[in-house]
Amino acid sequence: MAAGEIVGMTGLPLALRLCEKCRRCNTFGETCPASLRCPTCGSTAVRCRRPSGHDAAEWHRARLKAAADVDAAREAAGDPVLPPRWPEAPIRAPQSRFPKAFIPGRR
Ligand SMILES: [Zn+2]
Ligand SMILES: [Zn+2]
Repeated sequence: MAAGEIVGMTGLPLALRLCEKCRRCNTFGETCPASLRCPTCGSTAVRCRRPSGHDAAEWHRARLKAAADVDAAREAAGDPVLPPRWPEAPIRAPQSRFPKAFIPGRR
């Protein structure tokens, strides 16, 4: 294993992938905030909107929470789409081009 590679020991989910819907969040199959209407700005587009009507750089907190709430409900209902917190799949060589934001504690 090459130095600097991300391994399971870090706790990093190995099957993490970029969300196909918004190309912004990282997902195992969790609900994407972009798939929900934002409670704050009302946006149903991928991006949240500023009061000015321009795209906001970040999702509103309420939208993130809404997505988390959906996931919590799905998890409680035993939704099989959601993977286990700790994947049991064989550990594969991680991608070497993970953006820094993917690494816990290095934001
Ligand atoms: Zn997404
Ligand atoms: Zn919003």
